[in-house]
Amino acid sequence: MREERRASIGALLERVQGKYRRTVAAALHRRPLEMRNAVPVISFTFDDFPLSAFEVGGEILRQHGVAGTYYVSLGLLDREESVGRICSAAHLQEVLNQGHELGCHTFAHCDAWDTDPQYFRHSILENQRALEGVMPGAKFETMSYPISTTPRPQTKNETGRHFACCRAGSQMANIGVVDLNYMYSFFIERSRARPNVMWDLIEHNRRENGWLIFSTHDISYSPTIYGCVPQLFEQIVERSIASGAKILPVSRALAFVRGSSVPLA
Ligand SMILES: [Zn+2]
Repeated sequence: MREERRASIGALLERVQGKYRRTVAAALHRRPLEMRNAVPVISFTFDDFPLSAFEVGGEILRQHGVAGTYYVSLGLLDREESVGRICSAAHLQEVLNQGHELGCHTFAHCDAWDTDPQYFRHSILENQRALEGVMPGAKFETMSYPISTTPRPQTKNETGRHFACCRAGSQMANIGVVDLNYMYSFFIERSRARPNVMWDLIEHNRRENGWLIFSTHDISYSPTIYGCVPQLFEQIVERSIASGAKILPVSRALAFVRGSSVPLA
């Protein structure tokens, strides 16, 4: 009984801490942009770039004539990770050839909150250097914050200087004035047992002319807890297209949203 009580207090503290971090991360070092796009936008993003995200997820996107963004940590290439096998260097060029975007996820897959800001910055630069080692001239334009998806303030401030925009989590669509240093995204795996939440969000995004960014990791018939099955992913893609949203990788979505909007800062 005492153990259970301790566990529930631990879970409560974790929730309070998570909420505090998200509140701080969202409030400080903002880079606001007022979106004025006349049609809704939806992006599909894959963190860590497990091979299945490309071979299965990428194939589903390709069959529907759209493309996504792969946030890669080059320090993880070829490794067996909790999201499955990570891609190889050769896949980096392949995703670009198929019209997808490659985004930065730090070289060493650093937790956005728990990592020392200096080291986090170092890992961003190292990832860029490693990318150029594989593909001379290639450059990451956008970024996603690894693991906690919530940067500490100094990290958010510094990271924002390197990228056109940085993606977090928060399970919301981006509506109205957005923060380019902390773009919201919706992790599919957290709602895979309740897809109605996503159908409602796609509809909300349509009504509000928002920019909804979906995130996940592996796409597999036996997904890890960080991924989803191909059938669900395909349903999301189909419903997104049916909503009339423009489906674009993050950097192109940002260019589209910027084309009809005014930066506030
Ligand atoms: Zn990650």
